[in-house]
Amino acid sequence: MEILSIDKKILDELRSIVGEENVKTEIHHRALRAATPTPFPLHKWEQHVPDVVVLPGSSDEVSEVVKIANKYKVPIVPRAGGTGLNDGAVPLKRGILLDIKRMNRILEVDEENMTITVETGINNQELSRTLKQYFDLWWPFDPASFPVSIIGGNIGTNAWSLISGISGHIKDLVLSMEVVLPTGKIIEVGEGGGKKIRKSSTGYRVKELFLGHQGTLGIVTKATLEVFPRPEVEFPAFFGYQSFTEAWKSLGKISRSFLRTLASTVLFDEEKVEFLRRDDEAYIPLPSNIKSVIATAFYGTKEEVEAASNVLFRIIKEGGGIYLGEQLSEGDWASRHDRYHLALHGRDKEGYVMPSTWHCEDAAIVYSELPYVREKWHNLVKTYREKYGIFDDGGMFMYNNNPFKPWGDYLTEIDIFIAEMELDDEKWNAWVELKRKISEVTLEHGGSITACHGATRPGDAELIPIELKNGTYELMKSLKRILDPNNIMNPGKFGLDIAYLEEGSGLR
Ligand SMILES: Cc1cc2nc3c(=O)[nH]c(=O)nc-3n(C[C@H](O)[C@H](O)[C@H](O)COP(=O)(O)OP(=O)(O)OC[C@H]3O[C@@H](n4cnc5c(N)ncnc54)[C@H](O)[C@@H]3O)c2cc1C
Repeated sequence: MEILSIDKKILDELRSIVGEENVKTEIHHRALRAATPTPFPLHKWEQHVPDVVVLPGSSDEVSEVVKIANKYKVPIVPRAGGTGLNDGAVPLKRGILLDIKRMNRILEVDEENMTITVETGINNQELSRTLKQYFDLWWPFDPASFPVSIIGGNIGTNAWSLISGISGHIKDLVLSMEVVLPTGKIIEVGEGGGKKIRKSSTGYRVKELFLGHQGTLGIVTKATLEVFPRPEVEFPAFFGYQSFTEAWKSLGKISRSFLRTLASTVLFDEEKVEFLRRDDEAYIPLPSNIKSVIATAFYGTKEEVEAASNVLFRIIKEGGGIYLGEQLSEGDWASRHDRYHLALHGRDKEGYVMPSTWHCEDAAIVYSELPYVREKWHNLVKTYREKYGIFDDGGMFMYNNNPFKPWGDYLTEIDIFIAEMELDDEKWNAWVELKRKISEVTLEHGGSITACHGATRPGDAELIPIELKNGTYELMKSLKRILDPNNIMNPGKFGLDIAYLEEGSGLR
């Protein structure tokens, strides 16, 4: 493996900005930050190892590092927790990897106006713990990666929350941000000019541009976020059904019931229940006639949640569901942040354990299309499993996706296990083809190919121009060229390199 391809002069300039100890050139620091926990072409690992890792300590340092990247036209990739389930934080073109983790301070807690201002290197669990311990406040953002993901990465991906029915997603909780643009200029974006304003009509909605940009338009260094009062009660309740269809019909009724304390609904399809029975160490046995499950969770005052649970149990009963009991409901909901930390695996065609990497599809699909998409996705995985023997189907989850209104569209996940150690060029290409076909089904059914992780990897990225047809992708290319004239910010993502090859692209 090449030891280092970056000029010593650049390294010296970086050291003069962030200090000797915060410029890492040793191979372990760099190799560790080459991948994310998503299917990765292991046989090509060395192509993605950054040349240098830089850990700045302030917005000004970030700005100076970006200016150096611009001066020498070296790629620069921001990285937070590195938990992204696509390759957003993978330095596809190597260069400087800017790790934001040292910038992890809480700068202000405003209890009167219910806001906090933080540096974006802070971890969700740490933030939540501090707010609870010292201020009795609630940070109501709840991705399954809560203990390991970081605010900067959540903003970079436009991340999704399990309890969006009551508190929305990260986009609904970010009020304003400080952003270092690809030129090194520092700007503030928000609702109008006020840092703590929730709704403004002054000017364009520029803030939205920096939610989900995957570090292609700059580096977010500070954020002012909305916090909530702590809810009096949390009430999880899980229900079993005899078929997916029965559960799906019941899900529609629960979602449209207008219960304002309903934060989360999750449907486990038949393949998911089978997979959990077979391979989840934390699985609590269910009667064998249970084929599909709906999980719900409520937050609010005791009176509100009690009243809502009465309505819920009536809807469930009418839909043929049975309550799975307190132990399973509370235990399973409590483990929502640590399930994926189990050593996950699939099975090969003979049923032997297959050390695996995990793909988590995250399309947004409207309710009415879920059964059709489900059938097509499982069939696709079956075909590729039979042909290549390295894929396994871990079943599907469907989660409410609409912020504050748990009806309409669903984050639709199929979990696929892939024998990563067996990947070579042929099998990697087969994986990319399968991934693309899954996303094509999403588009055929009027969905969006990603509800939370972002579309940066092969099998997704080439479909962005198809999903964002009728001018949107053209506008994206123009914006990228204007904001990042030298294409230094996370190059190779969203297929945007093409913007630099097309003269006057999209500007006419
Ligand atoms: C077990 C598990 C469960 C998960 N559950 C969820 C879930 O429920 N919801 C969900 O949305 N995702 C989930 N994910 C995916 C992942 O945790 C999220 O995408 C998360 O938002 C990524 O945060 P991170 O700190 O790891 O960012 P990284 O992976 O480090 O970065 C993500 C992207 O943001 C960019 N970026 C990082 N920092 C900055 C910055 N300061 N400014 C600009 N861009 C930046 C990076 O370049 C990259 O493109 C899960 C992942 C795992 C492993």
